[in-house]
Amino acid sequence: MEQLVEERNWAGNVTYRAPRMARPRSVEELQDLVASAARIRALGSRHSFNDIADTSGTLATLDGLDPQISVDAARLTVTVSGGTRYATLAAELQRQGFALHNLASLPHISVAGAVSTGTHGSGDSNGNLATAVAGIELVTADGSIHTIRRGESPDFDGSVVALGALGIVSRLTLDIEPAFDVTQTVFENLAWDQVLDNFDGVMSSAYSVSLFTSWSGTTVDQAWLKHRTDSFTGGGSDTTTEGGSIPTFYGGTAATGARHPLPGVSGRNCTQQLGVSGPWSDRLAHFRAEFTPSKGEELQSEYLIPREHAVDAIRTLRGLSDVVTPLLMIGEIRSIAEDNLWLSPNYGRDGIGLHFTWHPDQPAVEAALRLIDSELAPFAARPHWGKVFTSEPSTLATLYPRFDDFIALAARFDPTGKFRNTFLERTLYGNW
Ligand SMILES: Cc1cc2nc3c(=O)[nH]c(=O)nc-3n(C[C@H](O)[C@H](O)[C@H](O)COP(=O)(O)OP(=O)(O)OC[C@H]3O[C@@H](n4cnc5c(N)ncnc54)[C@H](O)[C@@H]3O)c2cc1C
Repeated sequence: MEQLVEERNWAGNVTYRAPRMARPRSVEELQDLVASAARIRALGSRHSFNDIADTSGTLATLDGLDPQISVDAARLTVTVSGGTRYATLAAELQRQGFALHNLASLPHISVAGAVSTGTHGSGDSNGNLATAVAGIELVTADGSIHTIRRGESPDFDGSVVALGALGIVSRLTLDIEPAFDVTQTVFENLAWDQVLDNFDGVMSSAYSVSLFTSWSGTTVDQAWLKHRTDSFTGGGSDTTTEGGSIPTFYGGTAATGARHPLPGVSGRNCTQQLGVSGPWSDRLAHFRAEFTPSKGEELQSEYLIPREHAVDAIRTLRGLSDVVTPLLMIGEIRSIAEDNLWLSPNYGRDGIGLHFTWHPDQPAVEAALRLIDSELAPFAARPHWGKVFTSEPSTLATLYPRFDDFIALAARFDPTGKFRNTFLERTLYGNW
């Protein structure tokens, strides 16, 4: 069951230092593994860009567990095992006539890993993916199973975005809804001035809106608008058709072919665009489930900013374009609704995600991030837990009102520090 490894994350910028990897075939095997380990962590689909998943002991990957996708149509929930990826879950839900409220840009990410870091898609009324969690089953330090349900356990709000610190998630129950269709339309070369003058109008103009930008110049490269075609009322359309021909959107015009967020790259691996209606499972992510990049030549960072500071924070980043743009492949702006999950970057505030897909030059990226950290500090920017960040632990503690409560929760669940790792020592406990 266990083997020696020298394994890397998806981006290749982290080599896991764990001397052992284990692939349990059942929850019982996982329980034995956890009970007997001195140090252990779960490894998801390896899409994080830092050492958050690593351990000095055993890395347990749950992709050997059957997904066991079980829909409760009466309660509108689905329960899945801890290694399930969104691509698998979304296809099965759609087959059964159900939907998740949202997806991240890529469907190949594991549900448990995404939820653990507060991974999100976009949409003014859409909470991050962790907000769909109605219950989790954890294998805790002594190997026993602990079930935590929303509305029943006072620990729930601290246990969902938990950075792997409380135990290994063996099963999750998520909210679902009846399946819906989505159209996706891309607009190009929006006028920055118009976008910033009408920022709320832009971001609320569809169920999910993403703006792709290099943070420089006078135009926003692309806006991706994902509209629900059912009776959902949370997003209207502010597109206009001038002269009865090509639709426009805040100075941008509708793309006439499939687009990729990166300039000059073919859009064939991206989900269907051009306003063609189709299932949520084939539209809410940016990239197709059939296209599985096994590794990436990129790094990513992201800051979550309170909605009221969005325009000022964007102006600040545009002012740093001399430093940022040369290191950048593309930037993205998304919106995420407020939640109550203690370590969620959206805890207690509607947020805007300011994202950077970087060329893989880590030292240069970290230098730029230190500058961005200080420039965005007045806006209480919270870094994405799963991406590259340089924020000081002392700063992180001040950004999360329930930070100390989470530390106490982790100490209660994991008194011997079985799930603690270098990342947690650094970010939660300030031990370098
Ligand atoms: C190409 C790409 C696109 C991305 N797009 C987005 C996006 O659109 N939006 C966004 O917000 N983020 C995005 N991310 C970031 C990504 O969603 C997060 O880093 C996420 O946490 C990765 O999940 P994972 O399953 O790969 O987990 P890993 O990177 O393997 O692990 C992440 C954390 O989850 C924990 N974990 C994993 N499984 C379990 C489990 N069963 N029990 C307990 N803890 C567990 C790990 O211990 C670790 O702490 C993207 C990343 C990539 C590479």
